[in-house]
Amino acid sequence: MNGKRTQLYEGKAKILYQGPEPNTVIVHFKDDATAFNAEKKAVIEGKGVLNQRISEFIFTKLNDIGLPTHFLRSLNMREQLVRSVEIIPLEVVIRNVAAGSLAKRLGLEEGTALPRSIIECYYKNDKLGDPMVNEEHITAFGWATPMEMDDMMHMSIRINDFLSGLFMGIGIKLVDFKLEFGRFVENEMMRVVLADEISPDNCRLWDMRNNNAKMDKDIFRRDLGSLVDAYQEVARRLGIIQEGETPPRSRPKLVKSDL
Ligand code: UDP
Repeated sequence: MNGKRTQLYEGKAKILYQGPEPNTVIVHFKDDATAFNAEKKAVIEGKGVLNQRISEFIFTKLNDIGLPTHFLRSLNMREQLVRSVEIIPLEVVIRNVAAGSLAKRLGLEEGTALPRSIIECYYKNDKLGDPMVNEEHITAFGWATPMEMDDMMHMSIRINDFLSGLFMGIGIKLVDFKLEFGRFVENEMMRVVLADEISPDNCRLWDMRNNNAKMDKDIFRRDLGSLVDAYQEVARRLGIIQEGETPPRSRPKLVKSDL
């Protein structure tokens, strides 16, 4: 079946194939891990499956509360069918606690609670190292319209409120995370929806039951131990995998498809 597929794009962590229905795309979650703008690379067996399952769980919940996303359904452990969208070239970062580049830039101690949630935008451009930009740059260069910015900011706040509560309930602090949005035309109107993925690859998750231990990609960035064990614990607490279950690390098996 793979042979018949048309590959549309291969990124650092995902491959996109043409979907079986009009205006759909298949997202394949790879086991590849990269950090520091792809200067650090590794293949971590099982990561793609865990990210797909965690992202599926979160996007389904967001769809359920009426937050529009590109997610349609999972096809198997490693792949999902999504609506085809034009990605808005921004990384929207929402922060609740000082960490990573914010802590460094402003000289804040990692772990300091922020007076309120802070949203930052970065221009998606690997060659430039994803520079931080503000609404002036975004609208002047036409990366998003003022209305799209408004939609993205409102959705980001809603997602942050929802996810902070969801993770808090399972003893995990949502420190910060990155979102991407996409646009598509519906009834001659341009709509903005949440796209990409939400997984421990693009969130900082700290274990409130274990001294704020990291349960996210910082484990890989900073060589802190087993990334898959941590991601599995996130999936277990979310109720996605059962106690004692080890997610398959083999090739993807198709459980449901119209292909
Ligand atoms: N992030 C991401 N992709 C990027 C940059 C950041 O998913 O290209 C996420 C990262 O995992 C963290 C949040 O966005 O949850 C804030 O990252 P930060 O700006 O602190 O940069 P970093 O320390 O990751 O370089």
